[in-house]
Amino acid sequence: MAPDDIVKLIRPELQSLGGYSAHTSPETLADKIDIPAERIIKLDANENPYGCSPRVYKALAEYRRWNIYPDAAQAKLRRQLQDYAVADASRIVAACGSGELLDDILCLFIKPGDEVINCIPTFDMYRTRTIISGATLVNVPRDENYALDVNAVKAAVTRKTKLIILANPNSPTGTVTSERDIQALLETGVPLLVDEAYYEFYGQTVVPLVDRYPNLMVLRTFSKWAGLAGLRAGYGIFPPDIASYLLKIKLPYNVNVAALVAMQESLRDVDYLMGKVKVIIDERKRLFQELGKIDWLQPFPSQANFIFCSVLKGNAGELQQRLQQKGILVRYFDQPRLQNSIRISVGKPEDTDILVEALQKLEGP
Ligand SMILES: *Cc1c(COP(=O)(O)O)cnc(C)c1O
Repeated sequence: MAPDDIVKLIRPELQSLGGYSAHTSPETLADKIDIPAERIIKLDANENPYGCSPRVYKALAEYRRWNIYPDAAQAKLRRQLQDYAVADASRIVAACGSGELLDDILCLFIKPGDEVINCIPTFDMYRTRTIISGATLVNVPRDENYALDVNAVKAAVTRKTKLIILANPNSPTGTVTSERDIQALLETGVPLLVDEAYYEFYGQTVVPLVDRYPNLMVLRTFSKWAGLAGLRAGYGIFPPDIASYLLKIKLPYNVNVAALVAMQESLRDVDYLMGKVKVIIDERKRLFQELGKIDWLQPFPSQANFIFCSVLKGNAGELQQRLQQKGILVRYFDQPRLQNSIRISVGKPEDTDILVEALQKLEGP
């Protein structure tokens, strides 16, 4: 066998796949510019600037049974989530981040040739995971304000459609879809996966609809509101039969013990964590006002913990680089329908101050 013959055996659709572009880590950046990692202002991945609940640090420091496998059935956690998510434990499955559940759902439903509807621009992971699953990706563009085009989604449904994926609020735009529009999608009878990663910052959920619509599935995460992005902790609410299948097909020990403990402690400290969520929501309002004062930026109203902005003058990639030189990380996009734009996570008030000052000095990149 020649050295590259093995690569030729890879599935063709994966040979040409553009990967999910993860953000720059502060460690990588600290090496490139002369600012220590802890002084870098990280507003590029919608992480929680206040960290996790202090109860999580304490519980993990005191935990001893690392030598014992986690409970594959996640029984305790699922019972606890019952109250938080207001759904029966039989509907709930936890995972190593909510992304893992997307993979499991695709694994359950997709065979080659099946179609998945994706409402672009949106979270790029839906594209990559769908292609990796072997499904055909059907992109339905949102309108010029990034609102969902319900009729276009309905028109895109064919006999081969196995799943519609919808982030609500959407990332990277922060826009929301009304419950009425979501119901219209549910009426098609196609399985609908609503990603509520930013639910806590929005305050509205479609979980109460699960009893009425057996095709509704909802993804949630502890990454944003509970500050557990680094531990990988997510869950979903599914029709009970689908939850049973997911428990059967998932890797048995998908949620590690540290993540289980951290989720359980977070659920015992919801008031504290929601206090921080409130602070972030207040700061979102201030950041939006401040960004609105910069005449070459057009911020979009957001119901999440970030603000999406069109860059009206100059180049967004250059802007991102210039902020990076000052130790401020933001995401930038230059894909079709996301031309020349950046996404800024809501940080602490002092992060907003430093960012806004840096933007004012740039006077349009
Ligand atoms: C951040 C984010 C998630 C979270 O994924 P995890 O794997 O749980 O960290 C999911 N969906 C969207 C749209 C996000 O922006």
